[in-house]
Amino acid sequence: MRKTHESILENGFLGKRSEEVKAVTTDGVRVMMESALTARDRVGVQDFVLLENYTSEAAFIENLRKRFKENLIYTYIGSVLVSVNPYKELEIYTKQHMERYRGVNFYEVSPHIYAVSDNSYRSMRTERRDQCILISGESGAGKTEASKKILQYYAVTCPASEQVQMVKDRLLQSNPVLEAFGNAKTLRNDNSSRFGKYMDIQFDFKGAPVGGHILNYLLEKSRVVHQNHGERNFHIFYQLIEGGDEDLLRRLGLERNPQQYQYLVKGNCPKVSSINDRNDWKVVRKALTVIGFSDEEVEELLNIIASVLHMGNVQFAAEESGNSFITTETQIKYLAKLLGVEGSALKEALTHKKIIAKGEELMSPLNLEQAAYARDALAKAVYGRTFTWLVNKINLSLAFKDEVYHTSRSAAVIGLLDIYGFEVFQHNSFEQFCINYCNEKLQQLFIELTLKSEQEEYESEGITWEPVQYFNNKIICDLVEEKFKGIISILDEECLRPGDASDLTFLEKLESTVGGHPHFVTHKLADGKTRKVMSREEFRLLHYAGEVNYNVNGFLDKNNDLLFRNLKEVICQSENNILTQCFDREELTDKKRPETAATQFKNSLAKLMEILMSKEPSYIRCIKPNDAKQSGRFDEVLIRHQVKYLGLMENLRVRRAGFAYRRRYEAFLQRYKPLCPETWPNWPGRLADGVSTLVKHLGYKPEEYKLGRSKIFIRFPKTLFATEDALEV
Ligand code: ATP
Ligand code: MG
Repeated sequence: MRKTHESILENGFLGKRSEEVKAVTTDGVRVMMESALTARDRVGVQDFVLLENYTSEAAFIENLRKRFKENLIYTYIGSVLVSVNPYKELEIYTKQHMERYRGVNFYEVSPHIYAVSDNSYRSMRTERRDQCILISGESGAGKTEASKKILQYYAVTCPASEQVQMVKDRLLQSNPVLEAFGNAKTLRNDNSSRFGKYMDIQFDFKGAPVGGHILNYLLEKSRVVHQNHGERNFHIFYQLIEGGDEDLLRRLGLERNPQQYQYLVKGNCPKVSSINDRNDWKVVRKALTVIGFSDEEVEELLNIIASVLHMGNVQFAAEESGNSFITTETQIKYLAKLLGVEGSALKEALTHKKIIAKGEELMSPLNLEQAAYARDALAKAVYGRTFTWLVNKINLSLAFKDEVYHTSRSAAVIGLLDIYGFEVFQHNSFEQFCINYCNEKLQQLFIELTLKSEQEEYESEGITWEPVQYFNNKIICDLVEEKFKGIISILDEECLRPGDASDLTFLEKLESTVGGHPHFVTHKLADGKTRKVMSREEFRLLHYAGEVNYNVNGFLDKNNDLLFRNLKEVICQSENNILTQCFDREELTDKKRPETAATQFKNSLAKLMEILMSKEPSYIRCIKPNDAKQSGRFDEVLIRHQVKYLGLMENLRVRRAGFAYRRRYEAFLQRYKPLCPETWPNWPGRLADGVSTLVKHLGYKPEEYKLGRSKIFIRFPKTLFATEDALEV
């Protein structure tokens, strides 16, 4: 019963009409009446634009805290949804909840991810315009869970035929597969996505999902060969070892003990209490079948996964000359079999490098360190490319089959972006640089689109637009991505430069090229002295979300992402069909140098921005309440950081710059008409005149509101609250 009261309170707060509230709580009217006025104190406001002191970060956080305490994890900033990870299962995702949000007006129900999902869906249907939902937040904030909830909402509420049901199943099943291969336990999140994901759900003219397409971004390949203490490799390795049946493991030459494998022991964390690898294996295995993988394909895929584990166990020793040789013959045997390649060729390629001297090809022996490097590069390349293959394969299975629908394209799409949020660690490297650059781009898009949509709404309502001051982070995006002068260009240049190019020469180049940029700092001060707090291997970027120091160690290597040519040649000969698709022979004859990792990322981000720009966006901003993955703990310091990183105060300021609140005439009149004898029970004339009569009767001053073409705009929350409170007395 308590629950009912709370949700009604929440709905009645600035949603349902008070008569309706009274009607549903026949036995609770008294409780309702007395607490309605204090509800704001207890559960806060459900839209931050209603905060009196909207520029105060403390008031913002206090509102979040109140709601979090009441298990109200969702709050709006206008149409942006802020979500705080509850770290516990809440009874708010049932079928009944889905029904409650279906087809209702965004503001008439309490904030919920289903309201955002439904709103996008309806805009897509009625306006025939592609939509996208951008989910951001730091690791563990709940982005992936949010994207799954949205997908589930569509799977349950959208119309379905038999054909559509199959698409729905495949869309849903793509998640466990991608998570198995692309997610891992980290210190921050037991199920951390180690790649960015953008997924289009395609709908037909009837609003049924008929296909999908996934774009993946920058998989953290380095995890294949190394994990920090307390972290794991990608889930699939443990799932296979724990869940695969005896026969399968024997065929793959694997033991049922993750501690046997060098690539799995680095984090010293084979088991995670929140993860059941054996069960997950079953789920993944079934999902692969639902998506349409044949048994042969699954076998080839698992051969590759097992081969990576064997690769990690390949050991080297050095001859007196320093040249390395392989000491683990059995591993090579398995490895050659699983990769479908010649064992002797593989051995040679792991210990030699092909060089061209005076026009002749020579095999130059590798020392111990180089051989281990070559081995790890191979493991990363094999895993990374297999992951991309997997995404392509899922895309084939999700592809919109036009022969069934007799049209060449789906009617419209809703895109879901679940991508890494802004990251600041003690030690930040190339990966954080890319991730934070990505967030910088998304922030730029966000600001542009939010301002644009505000401006458009004012224009369409015939209200004068008052320019808003905001920080335009384009200057930082340019610093990173500008042709010739940007950090990525300089990095690429160093990667291409033969001779003494190193991470430190890259840093020097940065200093000489962008040293004077207002958002770039190194240990060197303008007067030639050095900044003590910064190491000589670091540069600092002043991002929109805060300062981050990046250590240049490994930048060149990670950006080059090179695999020795002779290793590539061996894998190109593979009998494994997946590998031959991943390692194309044409690559060997192609004289053009492959794009560097950063440039590839930059180009794929540019494409992503184009995709997002062409759609109508909705935003979900996820917040992690504490670092301990615990429910009920609201760590203020941590949350304040995120409010800052997510640019929420700026967002609120833009949204509140003109009017705190806006509502269609119809809805406004419907709710407040009991407060004026002329509008009660019904206003016979034009809606705008009814609203005008009503607000004059309520004593609104001219500077407090404006009447647009279809909406009333109210400048201050207190005006609205007074009206709202008048309803309850
Ligand atoms: P990463 O960037 O590391 O991938 P993420 O933002 O995708 O992080 P999730 O994996 O979605 O984070 O969430 C982390 C964990 O938090 C989940 O595994 C789940 O336990 C919990 N969680 C997140 N959202 C919810 C929710 N709405 N209800 C209950 N638990 C949740
Ligand atoms: Mg995730």
